[in-house]
Amino acid sequence: MAKIAMKFGGTSVADLDRIRNVAQLVKKEVDRGHQVAVVVSAMSGETNKLVGYINALSPHYDPREYDTVVAAGEQVTCGLLALALGAIGIPARSFLGWQIPIQTSAMHASARIEDIPPENLDACLASGKVAVVAGFQGVAEDNRVSTLGRGGSDTSAVAVAAAMKADRCDIYTDVDGVYTTDPRIASKARRMEKIAFEEMLEMASLGAKVLQTRSVEIAMQHRVPVRVLSTFDPDAGGTLLCDEEDIVEKKPVTGIAYSRDEAKISLMKIPDHPGIAAAIFGPLANAGINVDMIVQNISEDGKRTDLTFTCPRTELPRALKALEEAAPAIGYREITSDANVAKISIIGIGMRTHPGVAQTMFRTLSEKGINISVISTSEIKVSVLIAEEYVELAVRALHSAYELDVA
Ligand code: ADP
Ligand code: ASP
Ligand code: MG
Repeated sequence: MAKIAMKFGGTSVADLDRIRNVAQLVKKEVDRGHQVAVVVSAMSGETNKLVGYINALSPHYDPREYDTVVAAGEQVTCGLLALALGAIGIPARSFLGWQIPIQTSAMHASARIEDIPPENLDACLASGKVAVVAGFQGVAEDNRVSTLGRGGSDTSAVAVAAAMKADRCDIYTDVDGVYTTDPRIASKARRMEKIAFEEMLEMASLGAKVLQTRSVEIAMQHRVPVRVLSTFDPDAGGTLLCDEEDIVEKKPVTGIAYSRDEAKISLMKIPDHPGIAAAIFGPLANAGINVDMIVQNISEDGKRTDLTFTCPRTELPRALKALEEAAPAIGYREITSDANVAKISIIGIGMRTHPGVAQTMFRTLSEKGINISVISTSEIKVSVLIAEEYVELAVRALHSAYELDVA
């Protein structure tokens, strides 16, 4: 007998037939004699609908009320799945975040899971029932409902798996594993049998929506074996997250990610003296805005400089407001912004030992006439900022250039 955590995303629970299908997949594991906790997302489209209501009523919403509203989608599906399991003779009960409790920080709308006391889950499993857990939500230190950021049910699932000391955590979604790039925009993408935690972490944080970044961190920390599988073709193979040592063939680039959630801001003719970076990025940090890529150009006379950086597209209005308020302290002459940009990244642990990897990226993009406006690198990735209209062209060209195309 094993302990298993299963997670089903929005498309997997999009209607009653699909919820019945999920109940059958859970039943299979129960019939094998396993103890099972199932984490569910809201029906696909539901969270977007709820966010739409909030924005229409109150664009400058209180994040605590935002959480109360958006957590509702998962409440519905976890109750429905418990009912669907009961209907096929599998004893089950639903748990909302606060009932377990999934304890989180009070950073509403992007809370972090801090602890999951295992007693309630353990008691449910020991009594022979399936625990059906609402993903994405928890209860914050301020005793209010919290949510974990978009895509957060993956994180709920891995954290629940860690809390119950599960033998594995199976993430069921609408693709049959992690691919070399998003299979929806590159038909030549290949499924990976295995991916190293470090690479998955970069893929996720650079835009591959298949797993939420935080879920990969928790899997790494707590050594939870995670597989990504298809709900609609569960025997298709999937992808296993593993340690770097378990990957035999270390190609220089194993994956390509893209993110459209980007905006670019440029400040022109800033006085070039010590403290200027702090004057710019301090107000942004105070407003809770994450700055990502940064480039600075030194002007010819060495007295003034231009600075360009990126932030999440949704944060652009707030970033501009913070910078305009800080304008007297910074002393820039002009500020411009562009929300039609995207970040393309190449990722691979083999990059550490293969020189010239970035050059192939720059050459490939230039051959396609795609201009690069910002570059950033780390040990196992290179990211570039380009015009959003070229995302698909860039991803496909790079996928071929790094010989990732399916044969
Ligand atoms: P769920 O609702 O099950 O959580 P998501 O939509 O959040 O599903 O994540 C699955 C989607 O992630 C896929 O449909 C696919 O378009 C996208 N995706 C992006 N990059 C990748 C990748 N490298 N491999 C697989 N899927 C990816
Ligand atoms: N329903 C939430 C969202 O759409 C959480 C999730 O699906 O993982 O972001
Ligand atoms: Mg998801």
